[in-house]
Amino acid sequence: MPKRRVTLPLEIVYPDIGPVSFVASQRARRINIRIRADGSIRVAVPRNASLRQAEKFVVEKRDWIARQLRMGEERRRATAELVSRNQGFDSDREAARIRQRLAELAEEHGFSCNRVTIRNQKTRWGSCSANNNVSLNLKLALLPARLMDLVLLHELVHTEIKNHGPEFYRRLTGIIPDCRGLDRELKSYSPLLLTSLPQTPPVNPDEGGKTIRPKHVWSES
Ligand SMILES: [Zn+2]
Repeated sequence: MPKRRVTLPLEIVYPDIGPVSFVASQRARRINIRIRADGSIRVAVPRNASLRQAEKFVVEKRDWIARQLRMGEERRRATAELVSRNQGFDSDREAARIRQRLAELAEEHGFSCNRVTIRNQKTRWGSCSANNNVSLNLKLALLPARLMDLVLLHELVHTEIKNHGPEFYRRLTGIIPDCRGLDRELKSYSPLLLTSLPQTPPVNPDEGGKTIRPKHVWSES
């Protein structure tokens, strides 16, 4: 479609999601939307697709894009909060708060666990051993409350079901109906895992430092 090449790259501003750049891509096999950590939106338009198709795809994915933008905003806020809390982050107080919330949720939903350990970890938000010892990440204190609850309940459900099979999700969905959506949201916070606390200030995308840039990609399929 050489005709189309003349018109790209092109920026179109949408009322609810703002400017979107449509870029011709030799490599892309499908139309795909990328949202960068700074909130900019780029749509790769492969050779065999038209701008009209790409626009239609963006309109179809508008809700998803808006959601990613909101989450990105929250992530930036969380990181900024992390910076400001860095001076006074009280590990003991935050660990006690996590422990307290775990106890509340366990009581509310009828779970019990063994030993609870809270540490500053870099790889995971939480885990549950075969003996129902629960290990939790201190950085849970930095997440929105609904995501901290998600992790705590995820580990509490593991005290009864050790795998991530249908039974596990049936149980978790019974408590948190949107747990799959929240799982995805939690994934977008994984850069926080790599951030050191409290000694090293975190990388803040707004301050132009070296940043971890998660990319959220939705490909047409
Ligand atoms: Zn799990």
